[in-house]
Amino acid sequence: MLPQPWSKAFAQQQEVWLRPVAPGLVSGLLRWWARHGRHDLPWRLLPDGRQPGPDDPLPTYPIWVAEVMLQQTRLAVALPFWRCWLERFPDLASLAAASRQDVLHCWQGLGYYSRARRLHEVATRLVAAGRPLPRDRAGLEQLPGIGRTTAASIAATAGNSPDPILDGNVRRVLARLLAFPAPPRQDTALFWTMVELLLGGKRARDFNQALMDLGALVCRPRAPLCHCCPWRGHCRAYIKGIQHQLPVRQAPAPIPHVMIGVGIALDDQGKVLIGQRQPDGLLGGLWEFPGGKQELGETMADTVVRELQEDLGLAVAVGPELLRFDHAYTHRRLTFAVHLCRVVAGDARPGANQQVAWVWPHDLHRYPFPAASARMIQALREHLGQA
Ligand code: SF4
Repeated sequence: MLPQPWSKAFAQQQEVWLRPVAPGLVSGLLRWWARHGRHDLPWRLLPDGRQPGPDDPLPTYPIWVAEVMLQQTRLAVALPFWRCWLERFPDLASLAAASRQDVLHCWQGLGYYSRARRLHEVATRLVAAGRPLPRDRAGLEQLPGIGRTTAASIAATAGNSPDPILDGNVRRVLARLLAFPAPPRQDTALFWTMVELLLGGKRARDFNQALMDLGALVCRPRAPLCHCCPWRGHCRAYIKGIQHQLPVRQAPAPIPHVMIGVGIALDDQGKVLIGQRQPDGLLGGLWEFPGGKQELGETMADTVVRELQEDLGLAVAVGPELLRFDHAYTHRRLTFAVHLCRVVAGDARPGANQQVAWVWPHDLHRYPFPAASARMIQALREHLGQA
C-alpha cells in the first residue's frame, strides 16, 4: 500500500528515489537553462548590462524590488512597473527620501499596496540607521514581508548564497516530478527537503533561476510543454501521463460578493471630494471616493446617503447612477454602483479617513487611487466632457 503523502515513510521513499537521479536532473536543467533561460531580466544582469560570472555579485536593491513585485504579480505585468520604479527610485536613498504618496503613485495599478508601503518603510528605516540592505538570507528574512523563499531568492541572485527557493513555480514542477498525490502545501517540509537535495549547495543562483524559468516557460500551470522538458525522462507525472492533473488543487474557499455604493460629490465650483484611507491595511494610504457596503433593505442611493453622512458628516442629494461594474480581489468580489451627488448640508470631515480633499477633476491623476477608482475617474471625465 502507498504510504500517505505527508507521512515520514513517503518522504523517505521520495528521497531514496531522488538522491541518485538528482545530479543528472540538475545538469540537464542547467544545460537547458543556458540555452533557453530568461537571461535578459534586468535584475539578473550586472549594472553595465553584462551577464554576471559565477562569482560576480549583483546589486541587492533592484533584485529586492523585483522579488517583492513578483510576490503576487506575473512577470509580464511587473516588468514595466519595475523599470518605472528603478527610474524614479534608483536606490535605497532615493526611495527613503520619497513621500508615501509618491511611492504609492508609482505602484498604482500593481495592486497589493502593502508591498509598496513595506519597501518604503524598510528603505526609510535602513537609511535612517545608516545601514545597507542585507545580502544574506537570515538578514533579509528580518525585513517585513520577506519570507524564506523571497529572502533565499534575493540572497542567491545577489551573492550566489547556497539557498534554494520554493515558490509557486518550483512547487508545481516538483509536484509533477514526484507525481505528488495531494495539494503541495500539505507537505511543505517534504518539498523543501527535495529542493535542498536537488540544489546540493552548488550554483544556487543558476539553479534557482533555472528552476523558476522551467516552471514559467515549460512546466506551465496549464498545458506543460513536456516534449521540450529536460526532466521528462524522470518525471513521474509525465511517465504516468497525468501531468495535466497535477498539482492536486486545494478546494477553493467560496468568494463572498459585496455591493458597494459610491458617491462622487461635487461642490458648487465643480470640485470633487476624495478621502485618503488610513495608512495600514488593504489599499492603505490610497485615495478614493467615499462610499461603503450596502446594508440589508437599502437602495444604492440610501447607501450613498448613509455612508457620506456617517463617514464625512455630509448630507447629500443623490443623482442618477453614473456607472456600475464588478471588480474582483482574491478574497472577495465587489460590485460598485457609482452615483453623482450634490452636497446639501455639512462640511466634510475626515472621519474614517486620514484626510479629505476637494480637488478639480482634472487634478485627480495627481493622487494615487486603487484600480477600481480609475474606472470611476474615467466615467466622471466622460460625464464632464473632459475625457
Ligand atoms: S516532463 Fe512535463 S510535467 Fe514533468 S517537469 Fe517536465 S514539463 Fe513538467
